[in-house]
Amino acid sequence: MKDQKDRLEALRADIERRNPAQPEFHQAVREVLETLAPVFAARPEYADPAVALVERLTEPERQILFRVPWQDDRGRVHVNRGYRVEFNSALGPYKGGLRFHPSVDIGVVKFLGFEQIFKNALTGLGIGGGKGGSDFDPHGKSDAEVMRFCQSFMTELHRHIGEHTDVPAGDIGVGGREIGYLFGQYRRITNRWEAGVLTGKGQGWGGSAIRPQATGYGSVLFAAEMLAVRGEALDGLSAVVSGSGNVALYTIEKLQRLGANPLTCSDSEGYVVDDKGIDLALLKQIKEVERGRVSEYAARRGSSARFVSGGRVWDVPADVAFPSATQNELEARDARALVAGGVKAVSEGANMPTTPEAVRILQEAGVAFGPGKAANAGGVAVSALEMAQNAGRVAWSEQRVEDELAGIMRSIHTVAHETAERYGAPGDYVVGANIAGFERVADAMLAQGVI
Ligand code: NDP
Repeated sequence: MKDQKDRLEALRADIERRNPAQPEFHQAVREVLETLAPVFAARPEYADPAVALVERLTEPERQILFRVPWQDDRGRVHVNRGYRVEFNSALGPYKGGLRFHPSVDIGVVKFLGFEQIFKNALTGLGIGGGKGGSDFDPHGKSDAEVMRFCQSFMTELHRHIGEHTDVPAGDIGVGGREIGYLFGQYRRITNRWEAGVLTGKGQGWGGSAIRPQATGYGSVLFAAEMLAVRGEALDGLSAVVSGSGNVALYTIEKLQRLGANPLTCSDSEGYVVDDKGIDLALLKQIKEVERGRVSEYAARRGSSARFVSGGRVWDVPADVAFPSATQNELEARDARALVAGGVKAVSEGANMPTTPEAVRILQEAGVAFGPGKAANAGGVAVSALEMAQNAGRVAWSEQRVEDELAGIMRSIHTVAHETAERYGAPGDYVVGANIAGFERVADAMLAQGVI
């Protein structure tokens, strides 16, 4: 085991040297490598330096960078950068979302693509890992500007994607509106009705029921599974949720349906705490219809709600917590605040929202911790179901997709839980999810030769 730890440490140092100035990618790789020593000890074929499996797994199969020029409503030309990292296709076509946010750079896209490989493997469905996006900021842009940007982005991206090659979807800053513009341009350029090239489409034109809800619903179902192992249920529990985008809204919806009381939501300007519980209809009106800010919620809701400028939801005591905004949004001091408030479970709706030190604090305090790779896999799982429906030119009922999603989340929980036990780390879902995802991808890579 000591030898394996030394080899993994040397590998990590080499990866950081070869990929400078990519802190998020380093963090994601480190977090996975730290948990792999026991599987390398048990299965030496994975660790054989002559096979260089981990070296291949941490090097994307293909990285695409391109210029995205577009004109604003006044006719001024802007230039953004577009990215698509096609990380690993051992299990199926590259699959993963597009993120439009000013913080996007190659390191962020690689961290997300790397995580996606293991997440997609955990779903048990035939999808590889990829991710993309742009440093374009959709906030404050008109619909016409967003459309022109999406059309320019797809004018380059279309030559790299396809239903059997690479299938993007949404992420931060990319929702139904953006997927619509991207799909329209793809269809126009290629002259193909290739529904399976993008997921997250509108339900009237190839989209799946429950896709917008899937990530948030799945994260809540994962929390329910973790609690059930401890003989508890969500009914009657208070919850804190960060973010107010796609994942956060449907986390709140599912929590309310299961009898829990979500008290908060947030955006990059601050958070709202509502003592009566979030009024989801009002929040959806502000976020989905008016594209407004959470501060407006507090202003319109009345005396039960207040807006805390610049604060973080983790200061609000609650039984369960759902980080659902962005990476590294829950730090050590936030974890301590959650523990002091009596939190029982944390389920990551966002990707890598909890810093490594915060994860350690939560786990040492006995909090059930569901890592994003497992807890937020419901979104990509329903995306894969959307691809299946597109391939068969059929549309499944809401009930069928919801049942499938529940079954997939249960099975991800079971596999992460059992794998953690098998490798001597009972209750550690980080270890379980990393190893279970890794084994599936590694076996496929070994079987497919030196690729
Ligand atoms: P949205 O764009 O719909 O919402 C993002 C939310 O997070 C907004 O409230 C936004 O606030 C907030 N946010 C974003 N960046 C920051 C930041 N730097 N600081 C504070 N708040 C921030 O994105 P999604 O809901 O789709 O995605 C949220 C997370 O879930 C991401 O980590 C994503 O990778 C992950 N995820 C998403 C999936 C999906 O199906 N959509 C699937 C799996 C994971 P503001 O408006 O102020 O920027």
